[in-house]
Amino acid sequence: MDGRLESMPADSSVLTVGVPKEASPHERRVAVVPADVRSLKKAGFEVLVEPGAGLLAGFLDAQYVQQGAKVAADGAELARADVVVHVRAASADPDQPYAVGERLRENQILIALCDPLSDPRPIAALAERRVTTFALELLPRITRAQSMDVLSSMATIAGYKAVLLAAEASPRMFPMMMTAAGTLTPAKVFIVGAGVAGLQAISTARRLGAIVYAYDVRPAAREQIQSVGGKPVDLSLESADGQGGYARAMDQDFYKRQQAAMGKVIAESDVVITTAAVPGKRAPVLITTEMLAGMAPGSVIVDLAAERGGNCEATRPGETVEAGGVTIIGPVNVAATVAHHASQMFSRNITAFLVHLKKHGFPAPDTQDEIVRDTLITRDGQIVNPQIRDLLAAPVS
Ligand code: NAD
Repeated sequence: MDGRLESMPADSSVLTVGVPKEASPHERRVAVVPADVRSLKKAGFEVLVEPGAGLLAGFLDAQYVQQGAKVAADGAELARADVVVHVRAASADPDQPYAVGERLRENQILIALCDPLSDPRPIAALAERRVTTFALELLPRITRAQSMDVLSSMATIAGYKAVLLAAEASPRMFPMMMTAAGTLTPAKVFIVGAGVAGLQAISTARRLGAIVYAYDVRPAAREQIQSVGGKPVDLSLESADGQGGYARAMDQDFYKRQQAAMGKVIAESDVVITTAAVPGKRAPVLITTEMLAGMAPGSVIVDLAAERGGNCEATRPGETVEAGGVTIIGPVNVAATVAHHASQMFSRNITAFLVHLKKHGFPAPDTQDEIVRDTLITRDGQIVNPQIRDLLAAPVS
């Protein structure tokens, strides 16, 4: 068996899922890994893989075929797929914009991270092409959607990797060590934003032996910080709890007060990892250039919010810069640097999502279902998500 698709399945209820190579040259992940092909087939999907789609994440074409997938002759053959699953259909990095629209045909279904709230223009293009789009960022943060939550999976990986980046750049070791050459004090790490990435960063830094402090504007995060071994920092600021477990955007006066209250903790930290984000908004600036001057030379900041503009004023997305002896790392698309496990998690999430859609009548799923309704953004040539429509109608600032 060479795994090539000879004809569309005779059974019209069987839908073909196309797994392409990612569009960005910097993207190493793949949306479906071989281990999930059987679950998809069981749910009534055929899997058609572009040659080499999983290679950069460590998955060979032969492994897909072994699990029952077909390997297409080339990327163009994916036009035969009913649904195309991408990791990222658009980039949040303004220097590397990409969108996959041109590769999709009318009436094809796209499921991907689409970043629709940062830049809705690629979404308008998808609607014009009459592509049906599901944006994985818009999945509701509810218990029954947890198994499909791609954002949480990728944030888990980013939180872990941020600590490794910091440890690599720091001139200090993280654990306390009592040696014949004297005692080394543990590194002090401060995590700003204790959501999914922040909590993972706390546990990873703790495992390396650092003393870890953390702060989040949502009061509920305090207990979560403690549960993973961090010490919550009290800044005596009001709560910025928003909808659906996210923070809400605050005014400049709030952020100024936050900067002032955090100044001392930041100055005393060897490593600061910032993860603070507000959905659909530029990340708040929480560390000013002035605050950097208070940090000891050799300190390191890893700004996981770099793609959203950065929590640190000095951050340059995709670059490492130095200011007064402080290293500021602004990594973008961090999860892609751990491509194997990131793909494994993404694939498990997207498989759960496809199985859910199938149960709800996919390819025309019931839009009464909250998961379907929230993620569906284009259909029949229209943008069906009001928030994206409003963004497109708003004057460009
Ligand atoms: P996110 O990436 O939008 O933001 C990261 C963190 O930054 C958040 O915890 C936010 O409160 C914090 N933040 C924003 N502004 C800040 C500021 N000025 N100072 C300090 N911190 C600031 O969020 P996320 O990590 O994707 O998710 C946040 C929360 O959503 C989780 O902790 C959890 O409670 C909830 N959640 C629920 C589910 C579910 O129920 N299925 C899944 C995932 C997350």
